[in-house]
Amino acid sequence: MVGTDKLPPIEENVPLSELTTLGVGGPACYLACCRTGGELAALLAWARERDLEVFILGGGSNVLVSDAGFDGLVVQLIDETVEFVEQGEGVLVRAAAGADWDGLVARAVAVGLGGIECLSGIPGRVGAAPIQNVGAYGQEVSQTIEGVEVVELETGESQRLTAAECGFDYRYSHFKGRWRGRYAVTRVDFLLSLATAGAVKYSDLARRFAAGSPPTLRQVRDAVLEIRRAKSMILDADDPNRRSAGSFFVNPVVTAARVEELRQSVQGSMPAFPAGRGRVKLSAAWLIEQAGFRRGLRRGRAGLSSRHVLALINRGGATARELVALAAEVQAGVEQTFGIRLRPEPVFLGFAGDDPLADGGIG
Ligand code: NAP
Repeated sequence: MVGTDKLPPIEENVPLSELTTLGVGGPACYLACCRTGGELAALLAWARERDLEVFILGGGSNVLVSDAGFDGLVVQLIDETVEFVEQGEGVLVRAAAGADWDGLVARAVAVGLGGIECLSGIPGRVGAAPIQNVGAYGQEVSQTIEGVEVVELETGESQRLTAAECGFDYRYSHFKGRWRGRYAVTRVDFLLSLATAGAVKYSDLARRFAAGSPPTLRQVRDAVLEIRRAKSMILDADDPNRRSAGSFFVNPVVTAARVEELRQSVQGSMPAFPAGRGRVKLSAAWLIEQAGFRRGLRRGRAGLSSRHVLALINRGGATARELVALAAEVQAGVEQTFGIRLRPEPVFLGFAGDDPLADGGIG
């Protein structure tokens, strides 16, 4: 059990729309920031005494808050400490949950540590990275995570989980499944290796570099940032597509037999990538476009990004209800066309049930 420190200030009735990149949703009943394990323990005890649910909010880049808001305590972990410790051939990077994700990638690249350079430009904080095993351009955080330090919300106990215990899979971990709502991630330990060349696994990236000597970590980072910016996948205050939660749906992973069935019914070539254990990953964006949804589609104040069909956007003043209705429309369209039900990627907060799209309905 962590000793409790002084209770940090707790604000009441705080608009959550300002703390999320989608910019929709109602207020949190209570909100507090904490820097130490002791402060977190004090906040958890405070919430327990009042029988309040606790939600840990990171950078708010992957959350859709309901219009009614959240009837509990939202906690933001603001410790940004990052330590680099030499370990064998590599370096153990111990990053507190509140550290900025892209800042961590930039520091790693600057000191010649490889393993996360393709994850440049992803918004959010370190604590969120293991939750859905964040990945991009062929790298995912589970490939470098050594361990995850957590605090159990119910008891305030802290413990360290190994990567194997976290059950990492494609855009998934137990934090999204059987442990949902159980832990706050307080620190993530990454084992990075000294490297000169960056990883180039996707053709989008490979196209940027001439054949010959492999690109440096810095060159790979810069190329990823450029590609992401062109798709409005970097936070930019001047971008009309900026109010989004990035990709709204996860690429579906299906059996090889299912892919063969689909190939009989679709025209042209369908993107499909090996996903391990005989499974195949399909492109959610491709399925959405083939089901008839176009970039820039508008539904009231909600819409699809003009640069990426996978990003649902708040065009200005949208409600959570409008966004969920559009997501349900896209989900139903893909299901009718291909018989595949897309799984949403963001975390839903303040909806009755965990996921307002679970039955294709509006929460
Ligand atoms: P894209 O480059 O348009 O490619 C479409 C899809 O095809 C991607 O989702 C990607 O799967 C897959 N793909 C392409 N080349 C591949 C290859 N050589 N091997 C395996 N799979 C391949 O994708 P995008 O939507 O613009 O996204 C770019 C990258 O950013 C992707 O890696 C995407 O996952 C990532 N991203 C991640 C998050 C997140 O983790 N929360 C959010 C937004 C974007 P993968 O998605 O599996 O890579």
